[in-house]
Amino acid sequence: MLSPADGSSDHRLGAGVRPLARPVDDGPDGYGRPVSTLPHRRSPSGLSLPVVSIGLWQNFGAGTSFDDQRRLVLHAVNRGVVHLDLANNYGPPPFAAEESVGRLLGRELRGRRDELLLTTKAGYRAWPGPYGELGSAKYLRASLDESLRRLGVDAVDVFYSHRFDGTTPLEETVGALAQAVRSGKARQVGISSYSAERTVEALRVADGLGVRLVVHQVAYSLLNRWVERPGPDGRSLLDVAAQAGMAVVAFSPLGQGMLTGRYLTGVPADSRAARGGPLRPEWLTDDVLGHVRALDGIARAGGRTLPRLALAWVLRDPRVTSVLVGARTVEQLDESLAVASDPPLSDDELRAIEPHAVEAGINLWGPRSSDR
Ligand code: NDP
Repeated sequence: MLSPADGSSDHRLGAGVRPLARPVDDGPDGYGRPVSTLPHRRSPSGLSLPVVSIGLWQNFGAGTSFDDQRRLVLHAVNRGVVHLDLANNYGPPPFAAEESVGRLLGRELRGRRDELLLTTKAGYRAWPGPYGELGSAKYLRASLDESLRRLGVDAVDVFYSHRFDGTTPLEETVGALAQAVRSGKARQVGISSYSAERTVEALRVADGLGVRLVVHQVAYSLLNRWVERPGPDGRSLLDVAAQAGMAVVAFSPLGQGMLTGRYLTGVPADSRAARGGPLRPEWLTDDVLGHVRALDGIARAGGRTLPRLALAWVLRDPRVTSVLVGARTVEQLDESLAVASDPPLSDDELRAIEPHAVEAGINLWGPRSSDR
């Protein structure tokens, strides 16, 4: 098994990749649409995901016109990004992203539901009061019902517990996930940002309830390597997830934009950092930007771009099933998708990268959300 920190073993981008079931062809597929050429990885749990998925956390709410949202989602789907990742609180404001996707499923994407893997989550604050966040069964149940209503679908493909909740017994949170599957409202379930230790506990509870946690969604990037760190039993979160056969979906693989070169010459006015979003300007220290600049140089020397290097680095580990990117424009998404046709990082590149793949203090989700 690859140990990402040691620079050894199998780094092939294509490891675990299998072609799509449908014939690969740039021409029409008989339904008047182009056929996707994006490769998939399949986890031992059976979940098959495109190597690049798209998330609708930012840029799918009040600050973006519906036309722009539609353009981005349709472009993504037509390029084979068939995994759309949502949560009750995405937009912003909360509910907006699910409402937008619901509109698209009723119009431009009508009849294409089964082509898509739709995931949603509950855990962060969606409405006021104690039943509007965390991990109670009451909240999870109500949130899933509301998500289905906004999306206009009978079931989501995956429903996640968005974060660990130390104030609710795991039996209740995981029990609500099990109930979601039994009720047919979620085809499968998963967890997000649970630490290695909490994941072990959740897997044990799920086992007892006869439900499988098929996927773990975790922050992972060149500037945030918490999933590699050994937990109390010596295993990292990546180890625990892989040994349980879970798919691993790596979110914010571009460090919310910090790994794109966007901030190398200042803070652009239209950037996430300038908009008062979840990318905190104080993270953009000279030290961190020095590492980003060095990574940019390594990318150029290898004939890549920085975002493609950042994504290829996360995908070097075959335990990662998909990188879950965000995008504000079609051009940004296309840049991320180019990683699928890049060669894997060479051992020389990996060695050069290692000193610059540093913790940048940008993990909003890791251990802190696991121990509250
Ligand atoms: P990324 O790390 O991919 O950051 C995306 C942002 O980076 C874009 O919105 C854009 O920001 C910038 N960017 C992207 N491509 C380029 C490019 N080629 N050139 C320049 N800038 C670029 O991911 P996100 O942080 O957006 O997260 C992705 C998804 O992960 C979310 O939508 C969500 O689905 C999931 N997620 C899950 C969480 C969880 O708790 N489970 C938490 C957070 C995210 P700009 O606006 O500045 O242009």
